[in-house]
Amino acid sequence: MRKLTAAGLVAALAASLSPALPLAAVAATGGRPVYVETVGIPKDWDVAGGARWLDRYTGKTTFKLAPCPPRTDCVLILAGSVPGDKVGWASPTRTRLSFGGGQRVTWTTTTITVDVAQAKRYRYTAGTRRWLIAHELGHWAGLAHQSKRVSFMYPKTNPTPPMTATAAERRHLAGR
Ligand SMILES: [Zn+2]
Repeated sequence: MRKLTAAGLVAALAASLSPALPLAAVAATGGRPVYVETVGIPKDWDVAGGARWLDRYTGKTTFKLAPCPPRTDCVLILAGSVPGDKVGWASPTRTRLSFGGGQRVTWTTTTITVDVAQAKRYRYTAGTRRWLIAHELGHWAGLAHQSKRVSFMYPKTNPTPPMTATAAERRHLAGR
């Protein structure tokens, strides 16, 4: 573990972003719930709050915080280590396919990794932790980074990440 100077900390915060996924990477869920299962995420991470925040913009209850049943749309949020100085990482979404009862069924799985120790080092507040969850779920929804401080998809946390969505992002989320 390397030591962070004040300047290093600012640089690290500026770099604590996850990769942008292509827009509309995930197919519309068609009103089905998307299960959000957490593994090893401490209780002081308000995962439900982050998911609810994003649901305000989808206009419906998309996320259901519960262990993912088989063959459902699933976002797995894992505590783990994230390469470099990032805190969160959303993996590309995978679509699976199965045939059951003569019907073709597709479902999606996404893994979000959260580096809890890194967040602690960067002194993430409860609000910043909630932002990170909303931001990574934003990637799940197909949103890319914003280069300006106009939305929650702005990837830098310094000094505090904005908790708002642009008109285009709102339209994208409402269309899901
Ligand atoms: Zn990101």
